[in-house]
Parts: sequence; structure tokens; C-alpha cells
Amino acid sequence: MVEICKQKVLDGIGLSYDEALDLSKTNDKEALYKAADEIREYFCGNIIDLCSITNAKSGACSQDCKWCSQSARHKTNIEEYEIVDKEATVKEALENAAKGVKRHSLVTSGRRVNNKTLDKLIPIYKEIKEKSNISLCASMGLIDEQQLNRLKTEVGIEHYHCNLETAPSFFTNVCTTHTIEEKIETIKSAKKLGLGVCSGGIIGMGETMGHRVELAVTLRDLGVQSIPINILMPVEGTPLQNAKPLSEEEILTTIAIFRFVNPKANLRFAGGRLQIKHFQHKALHAGINAALTGDYLTTTGSDIDEDIRDFTNSGFAIDK
Ligand code: SF4
Repeated sequence: MVEICKQKVLDGIGLSYDEALDLSKTNDKEALYKAADEIREYFCGNIIDLCSITNAKSGACSQDCKWCSQSARHKTNIEEYEIVDKEATVKEALENAAKGVKRHSLVTSGRRVNNKTLDKLIPIYKEIKEKSNISLCASMGLIDEQQLNRLKTEVGIEHYHCNLETAPSFFTNVCTTHTIEEKIETIKSAKKLGLGVCSGGIIGMGETMGHRVELAVTLRDLGVQSIPINILMPVEGTPLQNAKPLSEEEILTTIAIFRFVNPKANLRFAGGRLQIKHFQHKALHAGINAALTGDYLTTTGSDIDEDIRDFTNSGFAIDK
């Protein structure tokens, strides 16, 4: 079964939802991970794509996303601010660029960014652009086409990030204040403007493997090129604070299935990666070829130099 599916993918034939779900049930998990690794090597080589983020507007969000520490509806203990310090942000982006990070994104909390905030973020992007070659990305919620166009034309944004977060059929279990259809519309707007799209999800929120396969297939159908896989880090005060951690096998199987379904995408390690540091090498060889490095939105992340060392030791060259 694993070999048949692998050959299909190598021949350019997309797996159906049912095939991918059956594949996730295989008893030979080691063969599954190895085949996903071979698919990654065939389509993407041994190169890892690194990006980093700055939390440009933190907390006080009106939305009710159950996983999120930045929702004003949850009693969490995060630092809140309206807009990030320009000098510190530019410095961070330039330092990351010098270390070999390829792309940097400014991320804002909230349902959608308003024009006042955008006016303050654009000069930050401009200065990063003037002083480095780092590619620029934005993650600002359900942004409209006019705002996206400003980011594209005024600062040269090349990518827009908007996670679907989970399967369409599971979304209302984790968020009720906006819809997955609105997210899909945002992705379509970014594509229409010629921007690359980064969109993935969080695993470990109570969804089934079937939901994860559904997310992988939905992202493929939307033509998403970069897919972050976040592993839930339950935050105290959020409705998911007691979520049961996923097993190593479930995480590796999910990564492998995402690779089978999205053979050419940048499958990206993202939030929660430090929880799986002890089997990171194995995960890298189950289909991963990209990573969010440095700090995450509200938590201290990984050390970029250490990541580069680890990825190199695992057989990857850094894509610059
Ligand atoms: S994920 Fe975004 S929209 Fe949802 S609560 Fe967090 S900051 Fe708000």
C-alpha cells in the first residue's frame, strides 16, 4: 500500500482523501515515514527553507479561537501591545537575514488588520527592505484586497500567511467568530494578486486523523506552497489548556501524510516544535523541508544558530 501510493505520487498523481486516510492507517509506519522522506527528496531536494516572524501587534483580540493565548476572551498571561517597536523589529529581521533566514513576516493579532496599524507597519517593512535582501511576508488575518495590494506594491511583500488552522468540517469546534470560508477567500485574494500563500494548521486540538487528511487535501486544492504544521502547545487559561498531547506516532504519521498529499510544498515545522526536539531528526525525515525558526508569537522559540546546526546535521542545506 505504501509503495503503491508513493509511486502514484512520484508519477504526479494526487492521492484521494480515501487513499490518504487508508495510508495513515498502515501498520508499517517506518515504511510510511521513509516513503514520505523519499517523496520530499525527489521533489524538494535536501534543502530546508527558513522563515522567521515578529509579533507586530499582540493580544486583545476579539475572536474566540480556542487555542490562542491572544484572545481577549481567555485569561492568559501574555504581553499585550498595539504596535511593536520599529527599531527592535528592523534589528531582529536584519540579524535573522544575516544568519541565513530567507523570509520574515510581521504578524498582527485580531480578526483583520486596520489601516491605521497598516500605516505603522509599512515603514518597518520599508526599512527592512532597504537594508537587507530578506523576502517579506505578512500575516494579518482576514485582510482585504486593497490592503494586500498596498503591501505588495508599497513594500514588495511576496507571500501572505493565513492558516486554515484545521479541517473545514472541524473549524467550528475551535472558532465561532469567523469562518473557514472567510479564510479561504483571503487565500484566494492573495493568489489573485500573485502572492505566494503560506497556510497550514495546528494539530492536537481534538481533531481526528480524518480531519488532518481533509486539511491536507483542502490546502492542496487551494494550491498552497508553504504549509506550517503547528503542534498545539496548550496555554493555561485557554479552552484547550487540558488538551491531550499527541503521540510521537500520530505526529510523524500526520507529517508523512501531508507530504504524500502535498509532495511539492514547503512542509514547515512551526509552533510546538520544541516539544518534539527529541524526535526532530525523525520528523525531518518523515517529510519536512522547511521551518519557522527563532521566536514564536507569544513564546520564546528556538535558537536560529542551533536550528541551522541541527538541520545541517540531519542532512539538509539551508536555502538562502
Ligand atoms: S488566532 Fe488570531 S484571530 Fe484567533 S484569537 Fe488569536 S489573534 Fe485572534
